[in-house]
Amino acid sequence: MAHLPTICDGCGRVSLTPFAGTDAQPPDCPHCAGARRVVPSCSYGQADIALFDELSEAVTEGLDPIEGQRLGHELSHALWSGTTGEIFDGLASRWPSLMPLVLVTGNNQGHQRRLLLMLKTIFEAVSLTRRSGTVAMSAEAVRRPHHPYTGPPPHGSAAPRSRRD
Ligand SMILES: [Zn+2]
Repeated sequence: MAHLPTICDGCGRVSLTPFAGTDAQPPDCPHCAGARRVVPSCSYGQADIALFDELSEAVTEGLDPIEGQRLGHELSHALWSGTTGEIFDGLASRWPSLMPLVLVTGNNQGHQRRLLLMLKTIFEAVSLTRRSGTVAMSAEAVRRPHHPYTGPPPHGSAAPRSRRD
């Protein structure tokens, strides 16, 4: 059985979920019973679950969807170009709890790539939650009529516009 990365709509947890191809959707979140959706990604194996969960715990706390999207792009580029060393430094200073997980890979390129691939999946999963925010914002923009001359000045200045004679 494949293990696909899922994100929970309820608590935002990203985890590897055992998932048969014949299932219509993944089982509900064991933590909050929220609905989970599958994140487009490669599939993982049973052996990946422990590391994936540790990485997810380490980085998803307080991670903004926009930052998740940016980091997902950076990791894609790093994996593609093979410049993985620098990105580890940046990630480890952002999340000190990642440091021990990075250190155990030693200088093993294969282990490092596997770890980065998981992080990329997690960041991309978090970036998916951005969609609902975008919809809410555009709905607000549609509701609000345009009054270009009665709103506050763009920089928040309360000074009335007057000509100095
Ligand atoms: Zn949940």
